[in-house]
Amino acid sequence: MNNNRKALVVLLIVCLLIFLSVSRTLRKEEKDNEPEKQQQTVFKADIIVYNTRNKVIERMDLDEYIVGVVAAEMPASFEMEALKAQAIAARTYALGRALGKYGSTVDRHHGAHVCTDSTHCQAWIPIELYQAWYPKSNVEENWAKIEEAVYGTSGLILTYNGEVINPLYHANSGGITEDIQEVWSSVSEVPYLRSVYSEGESDYSSFEKKVVLTGEEIREKLIKAYSDIVFLGPVSEDVEVVEYTNSRRVKEIRIGSIRIPGTKFRELFSLASTIMEFNFTDEDVLEVTTYGFGHGVGMSQCGANELAQKGKNYEYILKYYYTGVEIEPMSEEIKTRLNSY
Ligand SMILES: [Zn+2]
Repeated sequence: MNNNRKALVVLLIVCLLIFLSVSRTLRKEEKDNEPEKQQQTVFKADIIVYNTRNKVIERMDLDEYIVGVVAAEMPASFEMEALKAQAIAARTYALGRALGKYGSTVDRHHGAHVCTDSTHCQAWIPIELYQAWYPKSNVEENWAKIEEAVYGTSGLILTYNGEVINPLYHANSGGITEDIQEVWSSVSEVPYLRSVYSEGESDYSSFEKKVVLTGEEIREKLIKAYSDIVFLGPVSEDVEVVEYTNSRRVKEIRIGSIRIPGTKFRELFSLASTIMEFNFTDEDVLEVTTYGFGHGVGMSQCGANELAQKGKNYEYILKYYYTGVEIEPMSEEIKTRLNSY
């Protein structure tokens, strides 16, 4: 090999070494820039669930159950931080019932902690039913997003003064949430379930609903519920709002000779909320426009999504709707109790 050739080979080797060293550095930088995978400890505990669909009591992993609750209670299209807030609220809700602090389980659950009836506890669906509920959805993608929200907040619950709270929630507040004692008169004030303003909810389909009720329908329902009621004339004379709550919800309505709570009127006619406007389209026809969806207490799901869209995280969202609460991991005492069932 002549000297020129030798020099060329040495040059090539040097170039190769430089190339290898640079590419190694680049790969390392790429790795350093990758978002750190969240090191979340997945918390293991069981909960006993009464499945009202097949009337079977099942022992389930708590977070696995919460995934089914979030899937049934909040659209997967909502922001991740709203889904996380929902996961923590749902977990706390279930825990409060498992510990026997809230809810009535005696006759409805046959010994289980929670049931899958949304009108009694929280809605819940297994993945097999998800496609039937949301035919246009991408089940795998949505389910994975919900799992991320649940397992990413595993073990986290809401407390007030160290006690597990009763985190009530609803679909749409109509612009303002409600004090709990205005909805359940048997309940006294709860410091973390106070009325707060909630912006941006009018953009959702659940915000405004209209229902037309004829005088006949109203009289029939009312006589069934209050046999001593006396009607004095057409509904335009017989139905009037007597009092509103601070959040503009109907507190009391006079119907004929009696007065009933707005919440009872909502229940009788399956209305979306108690933020109601009455319009008599005829002297014996009442058109009710409602704003919001649900009882209005605690976290508004649409409101939570709005805050998340504005860049707020789950901690901000939960503390916004539940005044004065803390978000913390379940205590050892609670874990022991849960695992002893
Ligand atoms: Zn129940």
